Amino acid sequence: MKTTHADLAGKFIEDEPRTNWHDETLWFVREKRDKAAHGLPEWEQLREWGSQIKNATLSNLSNYLKEFEENALANGVKVHWASDAKEHNEIVHKIIKKHNIQKIVKSKSMLTEECHLNEYLHEHGIEVVDTDLGERIVQFRKEPPSHIVLPAIHLKKEDVSATFHEHLQTEKGNNDPQYLTEAARQHLRNKFVESDLAITGVNFAIAETGGFVVCTNEGNADMGAHTAAVHIACMGFEKLIPKAEHLSVFLRLLARSATGQPITTYSSHFHKPRPNQEMHIVIVDNGRSKQLGREDFRNSLKCIRCAACFNTCPVYRRSGGHSYHTAVAGPIGSILNPNLDMKANADLPFASTLCGSCSNVCPVKINIHEQLWKWRQVIVSEGYVAASKKISMKGMNFVFSNPKIYRLMGKIGRKSMQLFPFIVNNKLNIWFKQREMPVPPKESFRDWYLKNKKSQN
Ligand code: SF4
Repeated sequence: MKTTHADLAGKFIEDEPRTNWHDETLWFVREKRDKAAHGLPEWEQLREWGSQIKNATLSNLSNYLKEFEENALANGVKVHWASDAKEHNEIVHKIIKKHNIQKIVKSKSMLTEECHLNEYLHEHGIEVVDTDLGERIVQFRKEPPSHIVLPAIHLKKEDVSATFHEHLQTEKGNNDPQYLTEAARQHLRNKFVESDLAITGVNFAIAETGGFVVCTNEGNADMGAHTAAVHIACMGFEKLIPKAEHLSVFLRLLARSATGQPITTYSSHFHKPRPNQEMHIVIVDNGRSKQLGREDFRNSLKCIRCAACFNTCPVYRRSGGHSYHTAVAGPIGSILNPNLDMKANADLPFASTLCGSCSNVCPVKINIHEQLWKWRQVIVSEGYVAASKKISMKGMNFVFSNPKIYRLMGKIGRKSMQLFPFIVNNKLNIWFKQREMPVPPKESFRDWYLKNKKSQN
């Protein structure tokens, strides 16, 4: 059975205290972002530069990709190209098989989530340990991350305590965050030592140098890459920037937009393998070329995955990341995912109020809410909305474009609600389930205005 955002959100909001807490926690992160951004007089200038650099990169992408590959190869890095998720997973698997490795560590990479790499490798008998604390928590629980920066934000410390008690044998009921973090630290240290291969994501790849930068707050990418004999970095091709000097713009924008920090705790620069180490970069398309060719949605590829649009979105905050049923949730996920599978993700662009808050906070000035609105039009014209929605929208269009009929319907509506309130106040009306329906006014605003305007003259 198809499960839509509305169905999954319905499940999430059944737990009202959790919904409120989720909403408030993310709003707190949004406020931290505001303070950090407003503390920099040049913030708007940085956003403009970020947007222009990304725009210029996308306009000249093939040349920058070539330049990046040439420089990376000259640095002694092996470069692979994957057209889709399947090819990406096969390339990674081939490298692992070549070295006969059974256990690998991975630092946070939304691309590998998008490609379902963990599941693929698990099916081939390879243990993958996610080393970001939040990712490890959701991995223990066999859940996907619910947020691209804060993967376990839907969980409370009590949930983490219960999970660690089950998997790491910590004291039952001990919810002390320091105790729990220390348990995870000890557990992960062993995994780093046992592993011979590390997978990391890429935040920025620099065409000019062939190097790349990985940003983490826990140092787990460094721990993995520095202890392993083989390092595989997986990146979507939109991670490219032309020059090293552009990094200063993006590193300042990224952490402030994500968590309100001036910079991520670790911004690790990788250029070449250590002596006796092997370094690979897998550059992935997986639908990105197609999105690049969609004029209205092209600039969604400027995204630097800061999640500021998630934290500010009133729908995301009150429906949780899992309701988006895709690797990248939130407003930007609702633009990227219909490109990957329009039918399966046709519900996502409708999971928005179109308030525009996402576009206001986006550090690279993506017109997110306009693209969501555009996707709705594409999805309707391609026939991917329910017939009931299409019919009711046609009906509304007819009523709203005929003033006489609109006034008549208003009168009928007000009278019916006064005489037969159960017409709207019943369990079949999903709006009524969580709302007090207002007492209908005796007259419309138009009638009131005409009357009062006359009495004032
Ligand atoms: S769309 Fe903008 S705000 Fe949202 S994650 Fe991407 S860069 Fe951040």
